[in-house]
Parts: sequence; C-alpha cells; structure tokens
Amino acid sequence: MDIKNLIIIGSGPAAYTAAIYAARANLKPYIFEGFMSGPIGGQLMTTTDVDNFPGFPSGILGPKLMENMKEQAMKFGSSCLTEDVLKVDFSKKPYLIEGSRTEFQVNSVIIATGATAKRLDIKGAREGEFWQKGVTACAICDGAAPIFRDKFLYVIGGGDSAVEEAVFLTKYAEKVFIVHRRDEFRASKIMAERAKNHPKVEVLWNSEVIEILGDDIVKQVILLNNKTNKKETKDAGGVFFAIGHTPNTSFLNNQLELETNGYIKVTKGSTKTAIDGIFAAGDVQDHIYRQAITAAGSGCMAALETEKYLLEQGHIN
Ligand code: NAP
Repeated sequence: MDIKNLIIIGSGPAAYTAAIYAARANLKPYIFEGFMSGPIGGQLMTTTDVDNFPGFPSGILGPKLMENMKEQAMKFGSSCLTEDVLKVDFSKKPYLIEGSRTEFQVNSVIIATGATAKRLDIKGAREGEFWQKGVTACAICDGAAPIFRDKFLYVIGGGDSAVEEAVFLTKYAEKVFIVHRRDEFRASKIMAERAKNHPKVEVLWNSEVIEILGDDIVKQVILLNNKTNKKETKDAGGVFFAIGHTPNTSFLNNQLELETNGYIKVTKGSTKTAIDGIFAAGDVQDHIYRQAITAAGSGCMAALETEKYLLEQGHIN
C-alpha cells in the first residue's frame, strides 16, 4: 500500500477549504466525503439561503455554496471518495484510515466531520412533516426567511444558543418564545438577562413543545407545562431547536483527546490535536462559533499546518 500525504475526513466548509489549500500546495489530498454518516456537504445542505457568507451579496443557497466549494477543491487536484470512514488507527505512523471500501496509510489527517444539531423527535418535526417547512435547528441560518416574518416563533432550549437565537429572531418575529424544560436557564447569567429583559422575548419555563401542527408550513404548536401537566395550542410560525450539537467523533473510537463536551481538543489558536500530524478543523473542534465562515477559516489553518508538518517530517520538499 503506498502512503498518502493527507486524508481529509468530512465534506463541509472546513473539509473543502482544507482540500483547496492542500491541493494547491500539491499535497494531493484524498477526501472521505461520507455516505451514510450525514448529508454530503454538511449542515449547509439542510438549509436554504445563506446570506452571511462573504462574497455573495445576494445570498447563495447552502447546497450551491457546498457544490461550489467541492468543485474548487476538485479543480486543484483533490480526490474524493464517497465513503464513510469506519476505523482509524493513530497508534503508529503511518496512520491507517479504513473506509467502507478503501484503506489508506497516510502521513497526516485533517478531521473535519462537523457536528450534528440535535433535534427533538416530536410529532410534526420530522422529515416529510414540517422539518425545513418552519422547523429548523439553526435560527442564524434560516431565521431571516420570509415565512418567519412577523410571526410567533418558538425556540426550544435553555442554553446560550437558545437565548442568542431568540434575540436574533426578534429582528423578524412578532414575538419569540423560549420554551425551556426547566425553571432556570443553563445559559450564562449575562445571556439569561438579555432574554429576560428583551421586550419581544418571553420565556416559557417548565415547558415542552409536544407537537407541531400546520398545513404546508407550521401554523401551531402544542405546549405542555411539565409542572401542571396543562396543554395549550398556540399560533406559531416557526420552531427552532437550540438544544445543542453532537460532534461527529464516534469513528475515532477514543483515539484522540476530547474536551469534556465531546469536541476534539486542539491546541489554542491552532488545529493541532494531541497526536502529531492529526489536525481537526471546523465544528468538530469548535463549539462556540460554529459558522460556515469560521469552519472554512479553520480548514485553511489545518491545511497550512499540515503542509508545515509534512515539510518538517521530510515527507514533502
Ligand atoms: P447547551 O449549553 O448544551 O444547552 C442546551 C440546552 O438545550 C439546555 O438548556 C438543555 O436543557 C436543552 N436541551 C437539551 N436536550 C433537550 C431536550 N431533549 N429537550 C428539551 N431541551 C433540551 O448548548 P448550546 O446552548 O448550544 O451551547 C453550547 C456551547 O456553546 C456552550 O458552551 C455555550 O456557552 C456556547 N455558546 C456560546 C454563545 C455565546 O457566548 N454567545 C452562544 C452560543 C453558544 P437543560 O438546561 O435542562 O439541560
């Protein structure tokens, strides 16, 4: 088996940006873009207009943006495998990457497998029901869509994301309700105060959305107060899950050091993991910013750091 210089695992903005930079540096990267593990192209494949990615003043559709990034990565000589990585072995060099059909020995790896927004499996929220028809897991990505204008919007969660997204949505909504299952926020004090003091935000404590109703789009939610067991049906134009993300790291089988919240641990200000030659970029290592542009930026950093590593190790000249 010949030894490759670089394998990139993932297919979102971090992975493709890493591939563009690595291919232009003649590292001949191989990308495992996934297959069954999630949408190829990452989270932007499940959204519509992206209005905050620089360079597209009229906005761009999420899937189109990813198609463009992939095309750019391929143009400079990346190779793409539509396979999931099933197993890695980082215990000795060269490292081993085992896909569903292909196996490689490799000198360096960039992990850019992203994170998956958690969703509640409630009636009305599933694919084929109102998912992406008023139900989403990213207010920042989708909140400006016309269907949410001047409506009553419901954000589920009680962390910083729920508050941030609720406040963001007040720009468009008639009113935003934060539906939290407990009677106190998980969000930081300063964020909690923002929600409590905002004239267009109301917090529904001890509450759960138990069903979403509508016709073509969301029209109502059924709320349950889990203290009183009282149910109420309310008008709604949108439901936003803000209940956290799960970083996609299970295939690593505990071979990399993770943060306590499950994200890959990297050296501050870089994409270096605890293992030499293994880098992590994008949402799989970033639980704070989680934007396409920040993921792309860290993909660029990972490629530059990989090139430096391969040079220092004498794998390229
Ligand atoms: P998080 O802190 O894990 O909060 C998730 C929230 O969702 C919690 O309130 C949790 O309820 C609720 N939740 C989880 N599963 C649920 C379920 N099945 N049903 C109903 N509610 C459920 O996640 P996050 O808010 O996305 O924040 C993630 C990290 O990013 C945090 O470290 C946060 O500080 C950071 N962040 C920072 C900023 C900022 O500083 N501007 C903005 C966004 C995120 P419980 O509280 O009952 O567990």
